[in-house]
Amino acid sequence: MNIHEYQGKSILKSYGVVVPNGKAAFSVEEAVAAAKELGTKVCVVKAQIHAGGRGKAGGVKVAKSIEEVKAYATEILGKTLVTHQTGPAGKVVNRLLIEEGCDIKKEYYLSFVIDRNTARVVMMGSEEGGMDIEAVADTMPEKIIKEYIDPLVGLASFQAKRMAFKMNFAPTVIGQVEKLMGALYRAFMAKDCSLAEINPLVVTNDDKVIALDAKLNFDDSALYRHPDVAELRDESEEDPKEHDAAKEGFSYVTLDGNVACMVNGAGLAMATVDIIKHYGGEPANFLDVGGDSSVEKIAKAFKIMLSDDQVKGIFVNIFGGINKCDVIAGGVVEAAKLVGLTVPVVVRLEGTNVKEGREILRKADVPEVILAESMEKGAQKIIELVAKQNAKLIG
Ligand code: ADP
Ligand code: MG
Repeated sequence: MNIHEYQGKSILKSYGVVVPNGKAAFSVEEAVAAAKELGTKVCVVKAQIHAGGRGKAGGVKVAKSIEEVKAYATEILGKTLVTHQTGPAGKVVNRLLIEEGCDIKKEYYLSFVIDRNTARVVMMGSEEGGMDIEAVADTMPEKIIKEYIDPLVGLASFQAKRMAFKMNFAPTVIGQVEKLMGALYRAFMAKDCSLAEINPLVVTNDDKVIALDAKLNFDDSALYRHPDVAELRDESEEDPKEHDAAKEGFSYVTLDGNVACMVNGAGLAMATVDIIKHYGGEPANFLDVGGDSSVEKIAKAFKIMLSDDQVKGIFVNIFGGINKCDVIAGGVVEAAKLVGLTVPVVVRLEGTNVKEGREILRKADVPEVILAESMEKGAQKIIELVAKQNAKLIG
């Protein structure tokens, strides 16, 4: 799960990370009131969306008067920001952060993330922080310094020191940097984060070390331990399909293609995506219905899939274990009737009572539902039907 910058900063502050004073605002009036309350000469008006790259997209503005705060707040609130992280559709700004302006000497990068190869938390830092960090990672990877953290020891002070020196901080601020690294690591661990990123981490002209941006991602599977974090969820920032799916207990992942994949089990999900790709198709998503294949569940799954305009066909690839194939087949047929299918559905079943299951599908008078003999044939069939649909649309 993702949260907004202002929420992240508030969490980090409670762990001792130094952040600028600031306040969230949901309207122009609140923005003006927040700026007056801050009372600083320079204020920064920052769009709050679940995506970075706001600065370059015009979502971060420096205001030198209350009038300017008002003007920028009016401009940014309600605007659709398109950044390199939002995708072409962009994201509508519903919240702002009004923050005290910082007199920046230099911008750095600092983050903690889980490295799956070493199964450790890794601290990454660079003196080339700021809005072009992606380019630095691409063209000068040696400028990104890493420290792998032993889970039993935690972030050792020699590691923080070594990182701070390699990042070329001035000796006068190294102490502050080390402290901030320790605080960020404690927050990362305590809140079960999967990412904690400060970009930029700045040194000001009066030699203060401050986290100017904050991005925290949380491990969804650990959210039950953090009701305070779960409360920060902003549903308007999330894909409504993923949200509906989560409510039903489905695992659902949106992809870019046009073949929806309904499966049971994570392994079969991967294999299904692979086989669609293998035969030249593009998966639109996969939805794991899990162990429950009741008519209601399958109908819900169909509805979620059909709510995506991209979807031009559905491949149901289910292995009947505890759930028997005849029950699944009955569920698919009933759900198809209930939902009113608008795209073809190819069904591949295997497992317990597969004969009876296939018989039910063969006999069903739902023309959109087509039985496949095997996973390979099913994948090829749905790709062929989707291509036909596309040809029809173009023709
Ligand atoms: P994003 O990463 O989405 O572009 P940031 O919060 O990193 O957004 O802001 C972009 C840039 O705006 C920063 O690199 C920094 O130069 C500037 N900036 C952000 N907050 C402040 C602030 N409080 N005072 C001064 N400059 C700021
Ligand atoms: Mg940033």
